[in-house]
Amino acid sequence: MLALSLGQSAPYVRSRVEAGDPSTQCLYWTVPKITWYQSSAGNPQTRPQASEFDAVRRSFQGWRTIFDQCGNLSLEEGGVVDDRKVGYVVNGDNRNLVLFRTRRCGDTNIVPANDPCWEEESCANEYDCWDNDLGTIAVTLTTYDEKSGIIYDSDIELNSVAFYFTTSDGPLCNPPALTTNCVSTDVQNTMTHEIGHFVGLDHTNAVGSTMNPRAQTGEISKRSIDPGSRDFVCSEAYPKGMASQACVHPTSDANLGRKAQVGCASVGAEAWLPALAGWALLLARRRRGGRS
Ligand SMILES: [Zn+2]
Repeated sequence: MLALSLGQSAPYVRSRVEAGDPSTQCLYWTVPKITWYQSSAGNPQTRPQASEFDAVRRSFQGWRTIFDQCGNLSLEEGGVVDDRKVGYVVNGDNRNLVLFRTRRCGDTNIVPANDPCWEEESCANEYDCWDNDLGTIAVTLTTYDEKSGIIYDSDIELNSVAFYFTTSDGPLCNPPALTTNCVSTDVQNTMTHEIGHFVGLDHTNAVGSTMNPRAQTGEISKRSIDPGSRDFVCSEAYPKGMASQACVHPTSDANLGRKAQVGCASVGAEAWLPALAGWALLLARRRRGGRS
């Protein structure tokens, strides 16, 4: 119990193939350049209009600055694309995508209750809808090799069905009077945290960590990346001038297609909670073609 609690409040916690199991591999990128994209749809609700695009850019820039100083890979913006699909298809047209979902799959006006996509877990992509808990602010969906832990693709979905995403510094919004100059769920605060998952960080309860799973409505402190998360990049996983670092010596046979999904949840729009207790793992299923 003591070890567990110490681990949970460490300055940073690397994501694992099996969450919390140190005998399994850590998740990490090995390519020298990661290119990320934003959906051209943005988040129509955010004011001033289209300010969310720059807020997402500032979030990546925060991490990029660290990688440029003492890391070994570069985070490049690929631009704005019409793609609305998350996940990874072997030999497919994959990209690391950020998008806001503005309608709920569970709404029967959006997805019929008997649609086969429920069984196939493909409704989010087929109907462009939010298919996670309504109390979850955002989800980072990462596809990796379950033997080596090497990440192939990572996508970030934000829940614009239940959360009002803002880009202002404050003061706190007073619903329903949502105006331009107030803060509710800050895009940069949320995205800086999600990009931590994107590069291989799990939650930690360390006070002040960007990867702390809790946040108050109106919080903007996670816009700044804490020293512990910086150490994860520079001193452990991605040291400058060196190869990206595994946690367990990799085995030779790859088994591509495992997926991890981290949901950063909120209760009553007040706090993020580790709703999934780390990573919920889904075994990849054989797809019938098309995108997953
Ligand atoms: Zn999280």
